[in-house]
Amino acid sequence: MHVVILGCGQLSRLMAREGKKLGVDFTFVAMGDESTDCVNGLGKIVQWQDSMSAEALLAETGTPDALTVERESIDVKLLIELQKLCNVCPPPEAVAACQHRLKEKMALTSLDIPATPWHPISDEASLHKAAEMFGYPLIVKSFEDGYDGKNQWHLQSADELAELVKTEKPENWLAEPKINFTHEVSLIGARSVSGEVKFYPITENHHEGGILKRSIAPYELLDSTKIDEMQANMKRLMESWQYVGVLAIEMFVTKDGFTVNEMAPRVHNSGHWTQNNTITSQFENHIRAILDMELGDTEVNDYSGMVNILGMGTQQPKVDHVEGEVFLYDKTPRNGRKLGHVNLSDSDRESLAQRMSAIESQIYSN
Ligand code: ATP
Ligand code: MG
Ligand code: MG
Repeated sequence: MHVVILGCGQLSRLMAREGKKLGVDFTFVAMGDESTDCVNGLGKIVQWQDSMSAEALLAETGTPDALTVERESIDVKLLIELQKLCNVCPPPEAVAACQHRLKEKMALTSLDIPATPWHPISDEASLHKAAEMFGYPLIVKSFEDGYDGKNQWHLQSADELAELVKTEKPENWLAEPKINFTHEVSLIGARSVSGEVKFYPITENHHEGGILKRSIAPYELLDSTKIDEMQANMKRLMESWQYVGVLAIEMFVTKDGFTVNEMAPRVHNSGHWTQNNTITSQFENHIRAILDMELGDTEVNDYSGMVNILGMGTQQPKVDHVEGEVFLYDKTPRNGRKLGHVNLSDSDRESLAQRMSAIESQIYSN
């Protein structure tokens, strides 16, 4: 079996490492000038050129059993052309919705899935209108190219709004009220070519400065009817797209229930803990789903935690004495860059949280 992945980052690395155990061969496509450090030695690497056609790309990679992506910011036209020639998972329509915040909201609301309220911004007047509608703090996000909180502004006042429009042109943005959430959680599920669907337990996520710092699963503060509702929503969305692969939905939990923040048409950072504490990780299940193998077990026994290892300047991360299983991505250190993660588990949630804090102190001590 042969899988082509568009992208050469850590998610490609983690998918390939698990896929290889199933006997799958991988080819990675380096998009633009991205580094291939994460996937060196894991398969063939092909460089995508700007003007390259789908035919020319497949001539270099070979026609795979499935072609997939490790990020949502992929040229959808290329995916549509590729789909005429090979099995592309997830479908281009789903990638298109997840890479564009307005299309994403439309997809959610068309299926009556609760999403954070929004107002589209095309000029300064619409930005003022959003401030009137939602008040402050006001969260403004560009339609596209947002990740790790980039291209996103949290405005506290009309003065800050006035400052922002001095340096940034208000267009192709979305404004949202700041949600007063109790927790941020994510639901990760997989759907196979044959339509089999499985979900992982809900994960609680902690972000700082827009970047995921740590995740703990399972999240238990929602009653089971809410969890069933979330799963039913994801299943409806997957079926409407004829989705194949892993899908992640990030949500805010409020006193009224949950509301969707955003989605990712791929394996997700908040699911990295599945490597250590489930029979089948999200990475393996993504590969199984796209190759139409039976999906593996997603049940967990213990509490699972994942701590992200983020770059601090150009220093290599300090992980020598860290407990738990450390995964490094072989990336060049840079401030705030995701360089690796640590997975650990515990039968007691509080003890797990304390051990995770101790790991963070070790990684980030001076
Ligand atoms: P990712 O790296 O997860 O793709 P992103 O850059 O696409 O992130 P979001 O997930 O939309 O951005 O926002 C990043 C974080 O900012 C969220 O996880 C949350 O902590 C905060 N945030 C975003 N939108 C809101 C909101 N409307 N209300 C409150 N907090 C928000
Ligand atoms: Mg995002
Ligand atoms: Mg997010």
